[in-house]
Amino acid sequence: MNNPLTPFPEITVLIPAYNEGEGLERALSTIAGILETISKDWEIIVIDDGSRDNTYERVCRHALTESRVKGVSFSRNFGKEAALLAGLKYSQGRAVIAIDADLQHPPELMPDMVAKWRDGAKIVHAVKRNRKTDSLGKRLAALTINQIISRMGGINIHNSSDFKLLDREIVDILVYQLPERQRFFRGLSSWIGFREEYIEFDVSERIENESKWSFWSLVELSITALTSFTSVPLRIVTFLGLMTLVLGFVVASEALWSWYHGQAVSGFATIIITLLLIGSFIMISLGIIGEYIAKIYEEIKARPPYLVKSTVGIGETKS
Ligand code: UDP
Ligand code: MG
Repeated sequence: MNNPLTPFPEITVLIPAYNEGEGLERALSTIAGILETISKDWEIIVIDDGSRDNTYERVCRHALTESRVKGVSFSRNFGKEAALLAGLKYSQGRAVIAIDADLQHPPELMPDMVAKWRDGAKIVHAVKRNRKTDSLGKRLAALTINQIISRMGGINIHNSSDFKLLDREIVDILVYQLPERQRFFRGLSSWIGFREEYIEFDVSERIENESKWSFWSLVELSITALTSFTSVPLRIVTFLGLMTLVLGFVVASEALWSWYHGQAVSGFATIIITLLLIGSFIMISLGIIGEYIAKIYEEIKARPPYLVKSTVGIGETKS
């Protein structure tokens, strides 16, 4: 794999960036500085995810003086997952490292990651030691979702992040053998298997402006993560149905018993509670089924996950 005679760089670093103009220069020079200590043979690809600020102009300016810095610009904001996928497609390195533009993923970890890869690891996951920078709500939500996916989907994504090193073999599998459009990068790269290594890191505070994820984009990512990795929620529907059946038996027995003893069937409250309960079970079930149908619908439309407006420093061969 590490044949120095191949025309491809040894390491590609992918940086998805959405409105990161402010801190990008610093991120690029920090990352490039650290890469220099690992290998001279590298490329950095910044994927501008339809930023409304000057992110892409900054990449272009940087690319003028450093040909190893390249850029891809989307026609609009397609989301980080799409940016990561594009980055993987355009990457040429024998190892590919995905890292955030805000330096919350410490680039100082890259030499260790590369060392583990040179020792034979196919995937090196950087795992969060703490989530101190996340709010309590976000931490709880992440814990719950990760727990469900890890338990039900049979993959380990506890405290995982998108900061990973992937061998070319893994990148090719992700890009060419997994055709799904709505992706959950973190989950997929664990699902693949092969020899994995883990490195822990502390998430530092974001320096410039705030997180680029809106509440709803996080909800959407969580739903994609769940529907991509497990169909267990569908079984919840069956479970709710069984619960309703048991409830029905209890209420019916109580009504019959009262009738047998000559009492008028009491309980306006019972009826209302039963109705509400059944109503909510039905709604939840429809919602769960709906999410899976929506996923099928999205996949079947087969629209491209992103559209590229322009690129800088990238050869004509890739699409
Ligand atoms: N990002 C992106 N597209 C988006 C949202 C975010 O490419 O629609 C990038 C962003 O520029 C950053 C990385 O994804 O490089 C992580 O985003 P952020 O730091 O906002 O997320 P958090 O650290 O809260 O997970
Ligand atoms: Mg961040």
